[in-house]
Amino acid sequence: MTSTAFRDHEEVAFFRDPHSGLKAIIAVHSTALGPACGGVRFHAYGNEQEAIDDVLRLSAAMSLKSALAGLPLGGGKSVIIGDPGKDKTPALLAAFGRAVECLGGRYIAAEDVGMSPSDIAIVGGETRHVAGLDQGPSASGDPSPVTARGVWRGIEVAVRHRLGRNTLEGMTVGVLGLGHVGGALAGLLSDAGARLVVADIAEERCRTVADRCGARIVDVDVLVGERLDVFAPCALGGILNAETVGQLEAPVVAGAANNQLADETIADALHARGILYAPDFAINAGGIVNVAAEIAGNYDRAAVMRRVDRIGDTLDEIFLRAAREGRSPHFVAVDLAQERLDAARAARQQTL
Ligand code: NAD
Repeated sequence: MTSTAFRDHEEVAFFRDPHSGLKAIIAVHSTALGPACGGVRFHAYGNEQEAIDDVLRLSAAMSLKSALAGLPLGGGKSVIIGDPGKDKTPALLAAFGRAVECLGGRYIAAEDVGMSPSDIAIVGGETRHVAGLDQGPSASGDPSPVTARGVWRGIEVAVRHRLGRNTLEGMTVGVLGLGHVGGALAGLLSDAGARLVVADIAEERCRTVADRCGARIVDVDVLVGERLDVFAPCALGGILNAETVGQLEAPVVAGAANNQLADETIADALHARGILYAPDFAINAGGIVNVAAEIAGNYDRAAVMRRVDRIGDTLDEIFLRAAREGRSPHFVAVDLAQERLDAARAARQQTL
């Protein structure tokens, strides 16, 4: 395999099921801290290489995310190649469940773009290695509102660091992508008194948020260049690239999307422009914190929310260290997570 995104992955498995049409990849980046947990992304990739690159980057980011959040979980991710609107059938989801089962618990599947808790329940008919279920003794349900809460807390901290403001009242926040997380985030920001500018390729989602929160709707291509205090990417990855960094007017970028940076040089470009970037894998950890409580078998919503609020403390630490060291918060967050991963790997070596 020649993917540039392949970095120390423990295991990458390809699955095909001709009967249901399943084409899927499961990537286990690290199990040093625990079983590799991460969402299942159902997406119409242009080609297989795109899918491979995506799953490898996403699974590596999950290792960093869980390590930084102090969870006993490793990093993994899976992709199902296809159009969820057309190709998603119970038979295909069941076949995917059997694929997850093949890995014997080294990978635990949860929800991601293109999947819902009810889809995960079908996958869970074939394997117990799923999380983010709606029903069951320790079910945690849709992680998205919890992710949104962590992002909202993170935006508060970023605004305090970069703009010296202790409230979001009157701040203009641009939310790109109004799906499960972006829609919930828009509600939280609006309740906190922020003015919203929103964009999504799905027009009806924009209208729903505009009706509920009085948001101004703009085209997806222009939001990044709007006069904003905060730009919150909540759609797909790669939104921060050489082109968009030059267009950004917002002094803060803080949102839910995974893999927002097209590549790591973009972190330096943001830093050079004085734009404070909240590392995606730090600010969007709410969902995995929620799922981790379900996996631990003692789901307690109030305890989860307290833990999610600590995402703000983690970001505070990252921003302070970044300011002290004069570098992008992205690299500080990677270092912090990597230190925890390296320590866990070393401890595991000693017990082998
Ligand atoms: P979702 O599928 O519910 O929502 C994504 C939204 O983005 C949709 O409304 C879609 O129409 C819109 N969109 C897609 N392409 C777009 C484009 N080019 N421009 C503008 N809008 C576009 O997904 P979600 O669960 O809300 O997740 C959003 C992001 O947050 C993803 O990157 C996901 O990986 C990340 N994330 C989600 C969670 C979670 O708990 N769901 C946790 C961590 C990270």
